[in-house]
Amino acid sequence: MIWIDTYEAMRETDNPLVRRVAERGPIGFVHVIPNKWTMRAVYEYAIAQAWEAKLAPYRIPVRYVSEDEPVDALRYGRDVPRVMLFDHEAVRTGQGTSYKKFTPFYKKAKTHAWFQETDPVEWTVQDERAVEPSIDVRVPQWAANISLPPVTEKEAHAFLQTRSLTDYAERRDFIEHEAVTRLSPLLATGLVTTRTVLRYGLDEEAFVRQLVWREFAHMTLREHPDARTHPLNEAYETFPWRHDVAQFQAWCEGKTGYPIVDAAMRELYATGYMHNRLRMVVASFLTKHLRIDWRWGERYFMETLLDADAANNAINWQWVAGVGVDSSPYFRIFNPIKQGKDFAPSGTYIRRWCPEVIRPHAIQPGALIGHEAARSATMEAYEEWKMK
Ligand SMILES: Cc1cc2nc3c(=O)[nH]c(=O)nc-3n(C[C@H](O)[C@H](O)[C@H](O)COP(=O)(O)OP(=O)(O)OC[C@H]3O[C@@H](n4cnc5c(N)ncnc54)[C@H](O)[C@@H]3O)c2cc1C
Repeated sequence: MIWIDTYEAMRETDNPLVRRVAERGPIGFVHVIPNKWTMRAVYEYAIAQAWEAKLAPYRIPVRYVSEDEPVDALRYGRDVPRVMLFDHEAVRTGQGTSYKKFTPFYKKAKTHAWFQETDPVEWTVQDERAVEPSIDVRVPQWAANISLPPVTEKEAHAFLQTRSLTDYAERRDFIEHEAVTRLSPLLATGLVTTRTVLRYGLDEEAFVRQLVWREFAHMTLREHPDARTHPLNEAYETFPWRHDVAQFQAWCEGKTGYPIVDAAMRELYATGYMHNRLRMVVASFLTKHLRIDWRWGERYFMETLLDADAANNAINWQWVAGVGVDSSPYFRIFNPIKQGKDFAPSGTYIRRWCPEVIRPHAIQPGALIGHEAARSATMEAYEEWKMK
């Protein structure tokens, strides 16, 4: 029996990997239960259970194993390239190197033919054979309160049908207006592929550009496998990040005294979701107002986001922190209060998550740090480091 890792493989539509393997004979799926549960792991477990029910009539087993189980030799799929929109090997500079900047990557990608969705997998009923038992899975109690996105492919396709890009280009940055698609958990877990998304007619330029950001992030992580822990701009290896545990904890808990930051962090903890604009605001606050190591934030997001995706997360953290190669410079510092006024002006979003706040666009008494004080301390640290 060939064991396939469920990682990004729990779908019938557009699954070249499983299609190839399924033709070769008896298969089973291995679903790895991590030692430490994350939001995404909870979601993936729910998808795996739905997948198991779907495959049961074909006698295709799904086996749950612990992270420590030495089944690697049997596992197939984890190292296979993810389903992408185009051939990254073909989208290279004239010198044959990978692109460091997004815009030329995007322009070149548009000149290539993109892959199409492949036909669905066809299952055949397998012979009954003995399968090692699964481990006892205990989902943590907090998971009961999380409202999960679609867990079956059928639900995911129904969800895709409800997506609209009418306001996407103009309003995607506005938090109180639902103009974004919320497809990221489905894409991160592989319940649907970007190719299927395009087949549903979701192909407005502004949106496709975001899908290509995803390609760019995945390409970059493949080229720089240590991008989760090392800045792409190597000069930043020596940057004097602060490692203030109490302030980091306050950021995680949504207790910084900046209403927009606190609302976003509380929403993340309670739901596993955060709007892209807010991800930028809170990441900037952590790395520039508090000057705390971007890797701490990156790790926390990996634990709490339903759409946690190693490539998208690391590359975006590097971009916001200003340590990547195509990043906004470190000395460009967002004003979180202005961001709140511009992108969540009515205050409804902030009050929903921070009901104690009376003035949603004001720094609260007892805030961790004032905006101007943070700005000058950060600039000073930056100048001092640059001189060394
Ligand atoms: C600090 C930080 C951390 C992030 N961590 C993650 C993460 O772990 N997982 C993740 O999927 N996205 C991450 N993003 C990117 C982005 O915020 C989310 O993809 C987006 O908010 C998901 O919501 P949506 O599906 O409604 O997006 P839409 O705007 O509807 O976009 C559609 C799809 O395009 C892709 N996409 C959109 N924006 C980006 C982007 N900036 N970079 C790469 N791909 C993008 C996603 O797959 C998304 O589902 C991060 C961004 C920042 C600033």
